[in-house]
Amino acid sequence: MNIIDREKHKEFSSLLLQCKQYLRTDFKVHIAANSEVGDHCLMYALSDSIHPQFAHPCQHQHNLVCVTCEQLKDATLSIQKLLECTNIVGENEKLNDMILKSSNPFKVSII
Ligand SMILES: [Zn+2]
Ligand SMILES: [Zn+2]
Repeated sequence: MNIIDREKHKEFSSLLLQCKQYLRTDFKVHIAANSEVGDHCLMYALSDSIHPQFAHPCQHQHNLVCVTCEQLKDATLSIQKLLECTNIVGENEKLNDMILKSSNPFKVSII
């Protein structure tokens, strides 16, 4: 879409490739029914915060952080910021779609 130069494109492409590889390999291994890392906790991910009948509170705290998951979030956040700062006439709907898709990398990965 001509919103980034060749160098940035290369940079983002390799970053996204790393993210994809992580989600397909290590992330799967990290996920557990109960984990003190919020990003790895299945119970926490599947518990509904709005409807109590679909909620299941964890019996532990989520006070551990996974460095790789944080890097993945940083990567998608920087792409999201780039898209938000971009304004191309007639492309706003497409950009909003991309911003929405990049706002939660884990939701995208589960689908
Ligand atoms: Zn949990
Ligand atoms: Zn992780």
